[in-house]
Amino acid sequence: MKPLQDYEIQYLKGVGPKRAELYHKIGVHTLYDLLYYFPRSYIDVTSPAPIASVPLDTPCAVVATVIAKSGEQRIRKGMSLYKVKVTDYTTELVITFFNQKYLAEKLEIGRQYLFYGKVTGNFLKREMSSPLCEDISSTEHMLPVYPLTEGLTGNILKNHMRSVLSELDDTFTDPLPDSLRKEYGLCHLRFALETIHFPKSEYDLSLARRRLIFDELLSLQLGLAQLKQRARKQTKAIMSNTNLARFYQSLPFSPTGAQRRAIEDAARDMEHDIPMNRLVQGDVGSGKTLVAAAACMIACQNGWQSAFMAPTEILAEQHFRSLSSLLKDSGMRIGLLTGSMTAAQKREVTRQISEGELDLVIGTHALIQEKVQFSALGLVVTDEQHRFGVQQRSMLAGKGEHPHMLVMSATPIPRTLALIIYGDLDVSVIDELPPGRQVIHTYAIDSSKRMRAFGFVKKHIDEGRQAYIVCPLVEQGESDLKSATQYERLLREKYFSEYHVGLLHGKMKASEKDRVMRAFQHGEIDVLVSTTVIEVGVDVPNAVIMLIENAERFGLSQLHQLRGRVGRGSFQSYCILVSDAKNQEALGRLGIMCKTTDGFAIAEFDLKQRGPGDFFGHKQHGLPELKIADMMNDTELIHLTKTVSERLLAQDPELSFPEHHGLYEMTQRLFSRTGDAGLN
Ligand code: ADP
Ligand code: MG
Repeated sequence: MKPLQDYEIQYLKGVGPKRAELYHKIGVHTLYDLLYYFPRSYIDVTSPAPIASVPLDTPCAVVATVIAKSGEQRIRKGMSLYKVKVTDYTTELVITFFNQKYLAEKLEIGRQYLFYGKVTGNFLKREMSSPLCEDISSTEHMLPVYPLTEGLTGNILKNHMRSVLSELDDTFTDPLPDSLRKEYGLCHLRFALETIHFPKSEYDLSLARRRLIFDELLSLQLGLAQLKQRARKQTKAIMSNTNLARFYQSLPFSPTGAQRRAIEDAARDMEHDIPMNRLVQGDVGSGKTLVAAAACMIACQNGWQSAFMAPTEILAEQHFRSLSSLLKDSGMRIGLLTGSMTAAQKREVTRQISEGELDLVIGTHALIQEKVQFSALGLVVTDEQHRFGVQQRSMLAGKGEHPHMLVMSATPIPRTLALIIYGDLDVSVIDELPPGRQVIHTYAIDSSKRMRAFGFVKKHIDEGRQAYIVCPLVEQGESDLKSATQYERLLREKYFSEYHVGLLHGKMKASEKDRVMRAFQHGEIDVLVSTTVIEVGVDVPNAVIMLIENAERFGLSQLHQLRGRVGRGSFQSYCILVSDAKNQEALGRLGIMCKTTDGFAIAEFDLKQRGPGDFFGHKQHGLPELKIADMMNDTELIHLTKTVSERLLAQDPELSFPEHHGLYEMTQRLFSRTGDAGLN
């Protein structure tokens, strides 16, 4: 049999092109993907509930005997229905199968089966539609429940899973060397895969999980360590002149202690022949740009170029302006490269970069395009790190001979977590805001006070200021949510008809978003209605109010990021949280927002209240997505795999020994999963 990852799901018996499409929807393209499509939970077959007492509308398992079956009923073209009556000898239940002829016909009258699904109806008539069903005589005690998609039932998936598992033969090799497996008491991979899908006992399942989590975390550690090793190859960009006295003198303000410390950290790193790999973490407004400017200055005075990468065009332009201003007395030659420039402009900037006529170039992803070649790239700065994958960072680094890397992030992540997420980075924290920074006044109100809040907004617009209003969704979904589009219309036509109202949301084209954001920057829009797309780093000092609708829908860290959009100028700024939520958790969150503006305190609270999902669940950190390991709870295995990874790479840095081939492939596979985090 050829390797599972080369075997497309479509060619598995019983799949075909149509079902293959459904599989693609859930991210399963190959047999390998299928094997690693893990159950979300398991049904314990040994404790079915009596039909009479199962809760309605909640998935549960019942065991019952088939007593009658209807023939196939065609309800409309392409849609057929089967009804099967079952009983647990106390209560009857009518089961309906849609388009599952094969399955319905397989059920035998007089035989007992387990059915898993939602019971609906009332006490007189109970029904279940398209449940998962299983022959009770089978030896399994726990049945897998998979996350599914319309048209792909649990039964179908289980059958396919069984057939793939039964085809695993002796050519299926375990990627872990035997010695390692034994040393840490881990089961065989084949056993783990069979068991994760069809466990025979809780104990077996725990063995299987441990093995699969170990594999995933080991791959993660190996991959991160390799990235780190590669980043730590010697660089020629040794910056021996780190004197910043003149630079400091030229500034319109004096740097805060925290800024100085971060700059010193960076300067010390860059003096070495091992490239800097540093994360500068600081709350919105803490002045990270200055740290970047200082690092670029150091590079320049040692004869090296710097590249500064931002996630959007607007941010690139904003950085271009603020860096040009911070560095105006330095004599540095600074350029901008973004996707929307004309071909001729791009050509010219690209030429200047390659001929060494620019000391610092600021840009978007355009900077990592192959055409761009630096004459002497010594430093790479990336802003808002969570928008870039680990691999994009290393791609940009590949443009030079192991340049220094400085990464800036405003996502306030507690230090312990940062060490895992940014495992390959050293961290400087800017834990001090520039002096005189005004405190943003924050209020939580319910919707009965909305009109008063609008009046407050108008008063400030009349004084020449601007406001943001944030809603959770683009289009009307659940009725209680303010949809940004409808909301904007209402404001434009009714409540703010005498003002300029603009709209910004994630479904707009990037160029369109940029246009609206620019109009807002230039004061052509008074009230900007937006989804959370304005979250990242845009600076509009004239905007003084951030009004957030359905504030309970946002996580704390997100609320904090949003609030950071105002208070960037000299005007007193306000954040108004509108919510009718009554539950304690939501009220607690809004209360914290009103009480503190300290991003780290907020992050700690968020982590306690919501768990790490917010940090690890979304692709905030640019790490590959994990399928089974849990960064918060699997700490023992995180530490263990770190040790194992270090040991392996000390012997075999490129994982090129034959016995490490499986590990090499496993690591590659993990880092290619998200598409943006490959290792090469
Ligand atoms: P961040 O990127 O960390 O959110 P910025 O670098 O954009 O913050 O700085 C926010 C604002 O504070 C800018 O207008 C900047 O000029 C100003 N600023 C930065 N450092 C200082 C300082 N030490 N003293 C006074 N103002 C400062
Ligand atoms: Mg910034």
